[in-house]
Amino acid sequence: MKTDRISAVYLLAFLSLFFVECRQTSNNPGAQSSKSLTKVAPVSITRVAGPVVPKADSSPVAIMARKQVPILCYHQIREFRPKDSERAKDYIVPPGKFADQMKLLADSGFTTILPDQLMEYLKYGVPIPDKSVMIQFDDADLSQYEVAKPILDKYGFKACYFIMTVVLNKPGYMKKEHVKQLSDEGNIIGSHTWDHMNVKKMEEKDWAIQVEKPSRQLSEITGKPIEYFAYPFGLWNEDVARELEDHGFKAAFQLSAKRDSAQPLYTIRRVIIPGQWDAERMYRFMKGSFN
Ligand SMILES: [Zn+2]
Repeated sequence: MKTDRISAVYLLAFLSLFFVECRQTSNNPGAQSSKSLTKVAPVSITRVAGPVVPKADSSPVAIMARKQVPILCYHQIREFRPKDSERAKDYIVPPGKFADQMKLLADSGFTTILPDQLMEYLKYGVPIPDKSVMIQFDDADLSQYEVAKPILDKYGFKACYFIMTVVLNKPGYMKKEHVKQLSDEGNIIGSHTWDHMNVKKMEEKDWAIQVEKPSRQLSEITGKPIEYFAYPFGLWNEDVARELEDHGFKAAFQLSAKRDSAQPLYTIRRVIIPGQWDAERMYRFMKGSFN
């Protein structure tokens, strides 16, 4: 009989293919009913390892070859004061200018992405919107919560906040409740060391104070693992980058120096937008700086 000649292997292979097809079309209204899917599932589970994911090239060379996503870094969002030096104004953006910049990004069709999405894109080539941007804040200045967040909320933008934990609950800086709220609302909380130490000068004993303890504290506040790091002053070296990876960080952000071609995920570039710039200048600079 013909049926007898079909080996069990062929039958299993056929059922497996059938199941893969169901999985791939299961979002379509016309897909197989869950009833028929249930029937073949016990067979196919042993035959199909999971959704078919194309093998992506996540080598440093491939990561370096992918187009960079613009990352804008801010510190204080407040009006200039008479004693602010010209240099200080690089780190202070008046609220009206910040609002103009966010409006221009939104009006131009930009959406904010967060580090996990950036990782999927850089490591596996998972597509992101053409007009993706990342907004980041360093140091935990209170104005980031009080002034910048409401502006970001207006456009549905999310951001990363890199906290130096020594300032938490101090006057002029965020309180733990602010950090918790930012995290609960879908923003990413990252580490910026305990007291803004230049990590190039770190000795072995400093890792517990500057990296391990801050991560534990931020994790206790947010209830989530702390997986991203921003280098104070943007300064880094190859050893620290490697050590951060060993400490479980998925990526680390510097400023605008060249990336390390061996460790591109631990030397991701971002730019500071000086407070004197208007939105158009920010936009031109952003477009030109991340190729
Ligand atoms: Zn900083």
